[in-house]
Amino acid sequence: MERKKMKAMGIDIGGTNTAVSICSSAGKTLGRFDFSTPRSKYPEKTISEILRIIDGKYPLDEIGAAGFAVPGMLDPENGFVFSAPNLGWKNFPLKKVLMKYHRFKKLVFENDASCAALGVYSAYRGKKPESLAVLTLGTGIGGGFISGGRIFSRRDISIFEAGHIKISPEGLPCGCGARGCLEAYCGAAYMNNWAGAMFPKALQSSVLSSGEIYEKANGGALWAKKIWKQYGIYLGMAVSDIVNLLVPAQIVFTGGLAGAYSEFKGGLRISLEKHILPSYRGRSLISVHAGACSVGADGAAAMTLL
Ligand SMILES: [Zn+2]
Repeated sequence: MERKKMKAMGIDIGGTNTAVSICSSAGKTLGRFDFSTPRSKYPEKTISEILRIIDGKYPLDEIGAAGFAVPGMLDPENGFVFSAPNLGWKNFPLKKVLMKYHRFKKLVFENDASCAALGVYSAYRGKKPESLAVLTLGTGIGGGFISGGRIFSRRDISIFEAGHIKISPEGLPCGCGARGCLEAYCGAAYMNNWAGAMFPKALQSSVLSSGEIYEKANGGALWAKKIWKQYGIYLGMAVSDIVNLLVPAQIVFTGGLAGAYSEFKGGLRISLEKHILPSYRGRSLISVHAGACSVGADGAAAMTLL
């Protein structure tokens, strides 16, 4: 009798916030909440604290299955995190530690962008796209691919690291150690590395956030509009590669910077026309998914039901 009542939970552990989504065993969302990710140099402490906070808001005993969205590289089958730089985790046996604190009946794991992709997919009402690529445009850039309603993945390692598609040989340095990655141009944390040079003289010693640059562009500042056009051109190079490889029926941008779509879509279009193979042009629809903060947790919850 308990089986029927058991609920599923998705937990998206972010560098700043942790988002939780609870759904019924039929996939209906029952509630969501989020809190600041507890900081500790001991990953186990972070996890025990996250479980304690969740249990305080929603009894873990009512949860049958839990899905975890992890911001890093992991082995999904064994719930082993190779590295999650924003959390300071390296070679962390997440599943093993979770089982120490609570006897979950089912645990599943994936990279956070793949969970976001499933969250976006699950949010479609009516006809769902046959294939879907999602790019999360935030501090860094993540990617996830859904095909036939499932996350395109490997059992032993998370894949589709779209943020590290190369868009410039010997280009700007990226946090991964390489150069010229999409993230090194289009991640919010990296924008100033190239955009700063386009600021007016009076601003050149300052560091503007992507949000401030958006505000300026929205207010009509030409230099800011040029920055977003260039942003679209960079992004379009990586999106073209994704289209040329997989021709997804739909490409969706989500995350904080997706809100600047109206400013960067001009540059994006120029880039796509230049780089997508002629036969593939117009086959991948592009859109933006708003309400981004819960999408990773929703996807992590949905993942437990697959
Ligand atoms: Zn990189």
